[in-house]
Amino acid sequence: METINEVARETPIIHQTEVLVVGSGPGGLAAAIASARAGAETTLLERYGCFGGNLTQVGVEGFAWYRHDKTVDSEGIGIEFEQRAKTMGASNPEPQSNSHAIDGEAFKYVADVLVEEAGITPMLHRTMVATIVENEVIKGVVVESKAGREAILAKRVIDATGDADIAHRAGAIVHKTPQEEMMAASVMFSMNGVDKTRFIEDVKSNPHTYSDWFGPGWGMKTSGKEDALFSPYLKKPFEKAIKSGLIPENLSTITGTWGAISEQGDLSYLNIIHLAGLDATNPDHLTKGEMEGRRQAMLAIEALKQFNPGCENAKLRNFGMTLGVRDTRKIDAVYNMTAQDVHQEAKFDDSIGIFPEFIDGYGILVLPTTGRYFQLPYRAMLPKGIEHLLVTGRCVGGDKGSHAAVRNMMCCAVNGQGAGVAAAISIQTDVDVADVNIKKVQKTLLQQGARIH
Ligand SMILES: Cc1cc2nc3c(=O)[nH]c(=O)nc-3n(C[C@H](O)[C@H](O)[C@H](O)COP(=O)(O)OP(=O)(O)OC[C@H]3O[C@@H](n4cnc5c(N)ncnc54)[C@H](O)[C@@H]3O)c2cc1C
Repeated sequence: METINEVARETPIIHQTEVLVVGSGPGGLAAAIASARAGAETTLLERYGCFGGNLTQVGVEGFAWYRHDKTVDSEGIGIEFEQRAKTMGASNPEPQSNSHAIDGEAFKYVADVLVEEAGITPMLHRTMVATIVENEVIKGVVVESKAGREAILAKRVIDATGDADIAHRAGAIVHKTPQEEMMAASVMFSMNGVDKTRFIEDVKSNPHTYSDWFGPGWGMKTSGKEDALFSPYLKKPFEKAIKSGLIPENLSTITGTWGAISEQGDLSYLNIIHLAGLDATNPDHLTKGEMEGRRQAMLAIEALKQFNPGCENAKLRNFGMTLGVRDTRKIDAVYNMTAQDVHQEAKFDDSIGIFPEFIDGYGILVLPTTGRYFQLPYRAMLPKGIEHLLVTGRCVGGDKGSHAAVRNMMCCAVNGQGAGVAAAISIQTDVDVADVNIKKVQKTLLQQGARIH
């Protein structure tokens, strides 16, 4: 490949902070709030115009759709997200669980309020493009924005980019699932103008279960106890659309779940388009996924209008503002979690939180209907080889089986809270994040309302 030489330049340092959190999804937002509440001067940097990550930018609204009567759930800032959304009118009843779906649009404002209340310095519309590393210690990041190229210095950095962008650029070891095995990406969309009464009547007269989560060439292996449970699944309209010639046969992947329906007829979090084989760290793949996904979503909408009762007069409300990505880089952490940890109720001395045995990915679905749960080790957020850096959210260290659990938003918030508290305490005790006193971290987490064991 031909190259050019970029001219060396002086970059202004526009901001200095104690803890810099980059990326504001469930992981980063929780990390920033926890760090600020633990007493550190905290900055939250985000490339887009709102906080919330997949929740607000993609429209992933099913924050706790796994929760059943016997579920032993996480506690802490993740639960606070759900409760605040509820009290601020930013949620709708979730059809398959004891939870509320968070309204992805309204949560943009809820997140603003949470950030302001915690005293976090907000920085939207700046993209991290390079890391500042000296002698294997991270000192800050370089950002690009409408203002050009700027530097931000920090005593500790938390990588919550979802893609481990900072760890990768700083030279830490990261790995990706082979492209052909990566979880599919999705263009998410919502519709409005749905006749709720007709829609729900049809759902009740044709109830779907998790055993319907099968299509040509793909399927979900459950633990058995899920199969008969109700699932808000949409399959029949797309089968009819294929029969009628509206949707080509090779797009039998168009099928999936709806998230919530409001009194006003908004049918949101339509998780119906699955684009396999994309590597979302490659912008050419992202371009292809966005455009192909929107094309398929328009076909799906036409199929729903023609073949799903209640949708006759509905129309597209919005596409997620960016492609929904489930699977990219993960760090090689001091401890890499395993499927066994998730399946066998793992316990760790350095636990920073718990998450129920909820596995959703790589063809496996296990719902936490039993009360089983596992602990989350702090070491899975410690990348090897770079000091003062923590990585949280979906890119923590672990294998495919553990990723199918820890990628869930509530779990990202649990890990995020752990990272935020640990970063603050490592500054206050003047040690690297790898050497932080875990007992102190756990004590502060308990004071913040988290559950450790
Ligand atoms: C279609 C789809 C459906 C899903 N369904 C569910 C579900 O029902 N329930 C569930 O719990 N989970 C679900 N997930 C998974 C879940 O949404 C993610 O795993 C979770 O949001 C990851 O959280 P995170 O904080 O690690 O990262 P993200 O939510 O991805 O947030 C990362 C943030 O970092 C920002 N960022 C990235 N790079 C930079 C940069 N260089 N500079 C500045 N900012 C940057 C991004 O803009 C974003 O705000 C789904 C995912 C997808 C894609």
